[in-house]
Amino acid sequence: MGPVTELRELLGRPRRIAITTHQKPDADALGSSLGLYHYLTAKGHKVSVVTPTDYPDFLRWIPGSDIVIVGPADPERANWIFDGADIIFCLDFNALGRINEFGKSVKDSEAKKVMIDHHLEPEPFEDIAYVDMTASSTAELIYRLIVELGDEAMLTLPIAEALYAGIMTDTGSFRFTNTSPKVHRVVAHLMEIGVNVNAVYEHIFNTATLDRLRFTGYCLSNCLFVRDDLKTAYVKIEKEVFRQFNVRTGDTEGLVNYALSIKGVQLGVLITAQDDIVKLSFRSRNEVSSAELAKHFGGGGHFYAAGGKSQGPIEEVEKKLLEQIALYLASSDTVASSEPS
Ligand code: 5GP
Ligand code: MN
Repeated sequence: MGPVTELRELLGRPRRIAITTHQKPDADALGSSLGLYHYLTAKGHKVSVVTPTDYPDFLRWIPGSDIVIVGPADPERANWIFDGADIIFCLDFNALGRINEFGKSVKDSEAKKVMIDHHLEPEPFEDIAYVDMTASSTAELIYRLIVELGDEAMLTLPIAEALYAGIMTDTGSFRFTNTSPKVHRVVAHLMEIGVNVNAVYEHIFNTATLDRLRFTGYCLSNCLFVRDDLKTAYVKIEKEVFRQFNVRTGDTEGLVNYALSIKGVQLGVLITAQDDIVKLSFRSRNEVSSAELAKHFGGGGHFYAAGGKSQGPIEEVEKKLLEQIALYLASSDTVASSEPS
């Protein structure tokens, strides 16, 4: 039995459903979760959305975000929801480590676990997988699932807006290599349903604080390093800088793309010192695999976009990073010699 048939059966009567997504949810994580939330609620289920951490303010406009339970703000309630659920949908992640301490509650719950995701190299924990690594986004997969369940007519404006946000951001506003004709067809349909694409764009990209812009400027001037020999550029941000600019969740988003925008650079990395760990974000082009490099830091993701983390101090993580990049490039002659296209 394929996942769609299994899900159709499972959803055949009203269920208690929990939807969760990865830590520091981005627009795809939150958009796919809320799109699915609206759909399942309309189908008569009792649905909750729980995130393992907070999420950026620029996503609060997504319809339904007022119902999101931020796990760490109310862990008892979050665990109670996972514990009492019949079904837990796990969206936009494929390893329980990505939902922090809530991984245990999800694992221990007797609920059926459904993974809907598009990342490489899953660490299976689910009962049902609706997974396509070639999909642009988890939001695209939610759209596809609703259609395959025969419920295209149930695609309402709140669902369309939430899904559009995920597809737009995960494709880099339709510029990345995961932008296919199929993606544009889905988006055309979402626009027909009524999505105001300019309004979504404004919410996500034109709501910066002055602090955020100054922080970006500071990082580009003071924290950006280029290693021509490694075709790498990286932004390294110490804890002190975060304090200085009153940095909030989501403010570092997009910084790594500046590193990758330098001519000749094939790998961009963002290294940030957080409270107890150092977080790494990788972006790459051509033959360079971000996911491969992220593996050395307990992470993963997509070929051209991945993340990981490491115990500090940041200088040591930086050193290890540069060593790993050198080893990686040495093991792959084509990478070292190819020019960006
Ligand atoms: P970002 O750099 O924007 O945080 O993440 C880039 C991609 O890598 C996203 O698809 C994200 O889900 C994934 N990713 C980020 N951090 C981690 C991590 O620590 N582990 C894994 N497995 N994936 C990550
Ligand atoms: Mn995604």
